[in-house]
Amino acid sequence: MQLKEYPYWHDTVTMPTIPVRPLEGRVDVAIIGGGYTGLSAARVLAACGARTALFEAHTLGWGASSRNGGQVLTGMKLGPSALIKKYGLERARRLFAASLAAIDCVAQIVRDEGIACDFVRAGHLEAACKPAHLRVLAHEAELLARKFEHQVELLSAGELRRELGSAAYHGGLVDERSAGLNPARYLAGLAQAAARAGALLYEQTPLERVLPDGQGFLLRTARGALWAKDVFVATSGYTGPATPALQRRIVPIGSYIIATAPLPEALARELIPRGRMVYDTKNFLYYFRLTPEQRLLFGGRAGFTPPTESTVRESAAILRRGMLTVFPQLHDAPVEYAWGGTLGFAFDIFPHAGTLDGLYYAMGYAGHGVALATYLGTKLGQLICGGPEENPLAGLPFPRAPLGLYDGRPWFLPLAGLWYRFLDWVG
Ligand SMILES: Cc1cc2nc3c(=O)[nH]c(=O)nc-3n(C[C@H](O)[C@H](O)[C@H](O)COP(=O)(O)OP(=O)(O)OC[C@H]3O[C@@H](n4cnc5c(N)ncnc54)[C@H](O)[C@@H]3O)c2cc1C
Repeated sequence: MQLKEYPYWHDTVTMPTIPVRPLEGRVDVAIIGGGYTGLSAARVLAACGARTALFEAHTLGWGASSRNGGQVLTGMKLGPSALIKKYGLERARRLFAASLAAIDCVAQIVRDEGIACDFVRAGHLEAACKPAHLRVLAHEAELLARKFEHQVELLSAGELRRELGSAAYHGGLVDERSAGLNPARYLAGLAQAAARAGALLYEQTPLERVLPDGQGFLLRTARGALWAKDVFVATSGYTGPATPALQRRIVPIGSYIIATAPLPEALARELIPRGRMVYDTKNFLYYFRLTPEQRLLFGGRAGFTPPTESTVRESAAILRRGMLTVFPQLHDAPVEYAWGGTLGFAFDIFPHAGTLDGLYYAMGYAGHGVALATYLGTKLGQLICGGPEENPLAGLPFPRAPLGLYDGRPWFLPLAGLWYRFLDWVG
């Protein structure tokens, strides 16, 4: 079978046709980036009457938003104990609550806009790679219940067998609040909703420069210049030199996925009987799930660098080997698709949203962006429109690299990759 080197999801969706329109001279809000963050913001801004133009360098959803695993997860990349240690109990509670509200926000938009994207509250399973990891999960489950009033179920290695047809893990944790969806169909639905609300959407229009100009900003795009009172940067892992201060705060990290051909019903049920969204406890983690047509999607950080043709091919081979260590019963299952995409990580591995040099931004979701990008895009859109400050991340410092050692070119990624492999080996 010929390997298709593009996201499986792209074969499941008809993206809306965006008419090519002349550039506006003046708008209230210009949004840079056409993923979940930008489109969620555009939807609420246009609905509240702001003249809103969104610029996407490629096609809408070209970035991570049509390439991801479609896992809509509770929490943030940092677990509950790290959240409390870093931010104190009260703030940690608010941040965790925001992650739950973010899933509800996706559910509400899917309902309100009638988006057919297979959204389902399937729950997620975090699988322990080592016995010591299960002890950490037990502590986190206890903290979630006691400090966050959030119930999850801890599973021993034996109990895990009812959730996973794999002997590779030592137990796990199930959270019923998480969900799954088809990310590209969700993206297409958000784009239609933003267009219906009146947002002006421009594809193939990279934003090249942003200059403060009186009460607003002068923007140079590949198709001409315009003026905007406010600018919202929604470029996450693809943040570039048009917004250098943000580029220096975000590290682009590659992530890769393979998808098998549709599996026989009984085999699919054996692998993940309850249809959970699954990820494991390694730094170089695996994440996987079934699709509605019973393909297994199996993803991971096969390398840390953003995708190229050769890294996609190499990663496909690495991930297939990984998939077979988890599910040896797939030895005959053909891999039909392989692709990669770029996630945005901040130096504190935490999402950030607020203003910098007068520009609004939300980015750095580190693998939790389906829900958080939607939520923060929506909340910041409402704020720009004069709504209340409901940004749960407001006021958190957005750090740069120690000693200013990063100018937007992630020279250290191969070293970071080795370091995290080492931690997985010893940890
Ligand atoms: C392989 C993979 C798997 C993932 N799996 C999951 C998952 O299962 N669950 C989860 O929650 N998250 C997951 N994520 C992360 C999630 O997809 C992202 O956090 C989320 O999509 C970010 O949305 P965004 O709108 O902020 O950015 P993106 O969707 O990345 O959009 C940014 C856009 O900005 C555009 N852009 C950049 N610069 C400019 C410019 N100068 N002018 C105009 N446009 C510009 C880019 O072309 C891009 O389309 C995954 C990511 C990847 C790559």
